[in-house]
Amino acid sequence: MSFEDTNYFFGRAIDVMDVGRGIEDLLVTPDRSVSVKIPLEMDNGRIQVFEGYRVQHNNVRGPFKGGLRYAAEVDLDEVQSLASLMTWKTALTEVPYGGAKGGVTVNVRELSKGELERLTRKFVNQINDFIGPQTDIPAPDMNTNAQVMAWIMDQYSTLHGHSPAMVTGKPVDLYGAEGREAATGRGVVYVIEEFLKDEDRDIKETTFAIQGLGNVGSFAARFLDELNAKIVAVSDVSGGVYDEGGLSVKEVLEHVSDGGLLEDYAGGDAVTNEELLTLPADVLVPAAIGDVINESNMREIRASYIVEAANSPVTPKADEHLKERGVLIVPDILANAGGVIVSYFEWVQNLQRFSWKEKQVNAELYTRITGAYHEVRKLAKRRNLDLRTAAFVLAIGRVGKATVLRGIY
Ligand code: NAD
Repeated sequence: MSFEDTNYFFGRAIDVMDVGRGIEDLLVTPDRSVSVKIPLEMDNGRIQVFEGYRVQHNNVRGPFKGGLRYAAEVDLDEVQSLASLMTWKTALTEVPYGGAKGGVTVNVRELSKGELERLTRKFVNQINDFIGPQTDIPAPDMNTNAQVMAWIMDQYSTLHGHSPAMVTGKPVDLYGAEGREAATGRGVVYVIEEFLKDEDRDIKETTFAIQGLGNVGSFAARFLDELNAKIVAVSDVSGGVYDEGGLSVKEVLEHVSDGGLLEDYAGGDAVTNEELLTLPADVLVPAAIGDVINESNMREIRASYIVEAANSPVTPKADEHLKERGVLIVPDILANAGGVIVSYFEWVQNLQRFSWKEKQVNAELYTRITGAYHEVRKLAKRRNLDLRTAAFVLAIGRVGKATVLRGIY
C-alpha cells in the first residue's frame, strides 16, 4: 500500500479528532528515510547491486521499531507506509516504541543461502549507524526469519560489541523469546476469539478463508484449528485450496512446513488467490501481501468479517465500500500487533539478561492484545466509528500527547 493510502486512514481519524493542524503534519512525516546501495558478489562471481531501505517514522514514545521485508516489490514509498503503521500499532498496544520499517528489493527465491547471509550482513553494514538497542530495533517480516535476525545480531555485534537487544525475532537458542515465532498468528486468533464473542458467534460454527500460509497465516490457521474453527480455504503464493466441508489443517500445514507449495497439495479444490478472497466464508483473513482487497474485487467479497493479519490488505476505496455494506474489518494495527508485542517482551528480556517461559509470554500477549481490542471496540461503539478509525484515534491521541509533553522546538 502506498504511503498516501495509509495516510488516508490517518486523515479519516484526524477528521473526528481535535488535533491542531501543525501537529497533524508533524505526525504524518517520517523522521528519517535512509536508502542504501548493497553491492553483492553472487555465487557465480557476478556483481549485483540491491537497494535497501530503513524508514524511521516517529520515536516520541520510544525507540524506533519495525520489521525488515525482503521482496521484489519493496520500495521507499511502501516502507514509509509500513513504518507509519508501526507508529500507530505500537501506540495502540501501548508498547514503549515508535515506528520504523525496512526492506531490501530482492526476490529471495533467486538467492542461495550464502547470498542471503551476505546480503543481510552488507545491509547491516550500510545501516548500522542508524540502528541499535536504544535507537531502532529491527524484526522479521515477509521473507525474513529467525536465522536472518541471528545474522543481523552477529553483524551488528562485530561492529558495536555484543548487542542481543538490537534485533528481535531471533532464534530461541540465541537470545530469542519463547513464543515470538508464533506470536503474530497467536495474537490474530486471540483477537478473533474476542471479536466473535462480541458478535455473538460460536467459533466452531464459523468458516474461515486464509490467504498466505507463511509465519502469520500458518500459525493463525493452526490456532484456529485448535479451537475447532472450520477453515474452508487457504493459499500461498502458488495458489490455494478450498473445501466447503473444511480442510484438514494439520495435513496442509505439514505439506507447507517443508517448503512445499499448495499447488502440489492433493486435498480440496484448487483455487487462485483472487478466487479465495471471494469464497463464501464468514471470516476472511488476508495474511500475505498488501492491497489484495481493492476496487477490482470489493463488490465480490462475500465474507461478513475481515481480520487483517497482513499489513494493509484493504485499500481505502475497498474499505469505504465494505463499510457501507456492513462488512466489519478488524484493522492490521490491532489484529497483527502480537508480533511487536512479543518483540517488546524479547527486548525487555535481552536488556535484563533474563528469560521468561512461553506460558508467561502468551499470558502477557493475551492481556495486552485483547485489552487493546476492547478499548477499540468500546470507542467505536461510543463514537459510532468503524474499528479502523477508532484504532487510529486511540493511537494518534497517544502519539500526539507524547509529542506535546516532550515539547516542540
Ligand atoms: P512470510 O514470508 O512468512 O509469508 C508470506 C506468505 O504469503 C507465504 O505463504 C507466501 O507464499 C504468501 N504470498 C506471497 N506472495 C503472495 C501473493 N502474491 N499472493 C498470495 N500469497 C502470497 O510473511 P509473514 O511474516 O507471514 O507476513 C505476512 C504478512 O503479515 C505481511 O503483510 C507482514 O507485513 C504481516 N506481519 C508479519 C508479522 C510477523 O511477525 N512476521 C507481524 C505483523 C505483520
